[in-house]
Amino acid sequence: MSTAELSFSETRAGSRRNLVGLSREALAALFGEAFSLEPKKARMRASQVWRWIYHFGATDFDRMTDIGKEMRGGLAERFFIARPEVVERQVSTDGARKYLLRMAPGTEVECVFIPDVGRAGALCVSSQVGCTLNCTFCHTGTQKLVRNLTAAEIVGQVLAVKDDLGEWPSNREDRRLSNIVFMGMGEPLYNLDNVAAAIAVIADGDGVSISRRRITVSTSGVVPEIPRLGETTNAMLAISLHATNDALRDRLVPINRKYPIAELLAACRAYPDLSNARRITFEYVMLKGVNDTDAEARELVRLLSNIPAKINLIPFNPWPGAPYECSSWRRIEAFADIVNRAGYASPIRTPRGRDILAACGQLKSESVKQRASERLRAQTAGPAS
Ligand code: SAH
Ligand code: SF4
Repeated sequence: MSTAELSFSETRAGSRRNLVGLSREALAALFGEAFSLEPKKARMRASQVWRWIYHFGATDFDRMTDIGKEMRGGLAERFFIARPEVVERQVSTDGARKYLLRMAPGTEVECVFIPDVGRAGALCVSSQVGCTLNCTFCHTGTQKLVRNLTAAEIVGQVLAVKDDLGEWPSNREDRRLSNIVFMGMGEPLYNLDNVAAAIAVIADGDGVSISRRRITVSTSGVVPEIPRLGETTNAMLAISLHATNDALRDRLVPINRKYPIAELLAACRAYPDLSNARRITFEYVMLKGVNDTDAEARELVRLLSNIPAKINLIPFNPWPGAPYECSSWRRIEAFADIVNRAGYASPIRTPRGRDILAACGQLKSESVKQRASERLRAQTAGPAS
């Protein structure tokens, strides 16, 4: 079987193994075993191959010219370096790019590249297919199919987008992909092992080299996993707060019934290495007549007063059948004004990629819908079209 026919999620093609997403240590162990190398030599090979995969974007062992020809042949016999298949790619008028990636038959995830966010541009990656937490304003939460993505499938999103942006080698001065946000489909703290393994690969300075302070993990509030996120990844934390009292948050973000606001904020205060340069981002979706009064803006500021925080007001992105509307622009500005006066700079998150339905909480479901309608069109058009 050629790698082109493979589904990315297969870790094996016949006797060959996909190397994407494995740690350096795992690579060294595989090479040590495959070629009977001493640990030191195996580690050296792992470093060379690592650099080719993550610094140069190689998918072919023949490019690895600092490795002898014979060894390259041996590697190609036993291993391969795969990419998820880009099923759809849409570019917004504002430069945002949305990708639908096929990991395996029937397993498709979306990720979105958003220019001019962070140092240069951010890639919003998915951590699960769908999501088990039914936040009432989120379209992803209405999807039935849910599974965790593997570390390889998370790293695969980054590699596929770097291919598309032409961002190899990774240390280019003019890189457009400078930040990663786990704000696509899924709850990353329900898949923390794989998320942490993926972050270790992405943050490695001899590869993709996106530093941990430019990687943000957003959670709806899985409180018991927040300390481990800090300890194992040292990534930046974002909290989907969306309400300032438990009665309302219970409704909007149902996991709040398990871990209420006071517990969530206590976990935030204990997050490692917080400072003015390392703040927690609090996301707050603006829902008309639900959570958008001046009193709530003041309460939000009060709640966060003893946490180094950034506030991100997200205009609600509507989806068909959604039970909410976005607050009016005037309301959002008035709310932002109060937040602003409390010392938080530019708190409104400009909606991006709206024309391609690339915005928060809209991922995947729309593309499924669209493709269903395409199928319908194809069916009704008949075989001649
Ligand atoms: N599950 C994680 C990360 C993915 S959601 C979490 O909930 O934090 C990323 C962000 O998009 C979250 O803040 C989420 O609350 C927000 N979001 C979801 N649906 C939205 C919508 N329709 N409009 C605006 N923001 C939305
Ligand atoms: Fe899941 Fe986040 Fe959507 Fe809630 S907002 S349903 S946690 S993806």
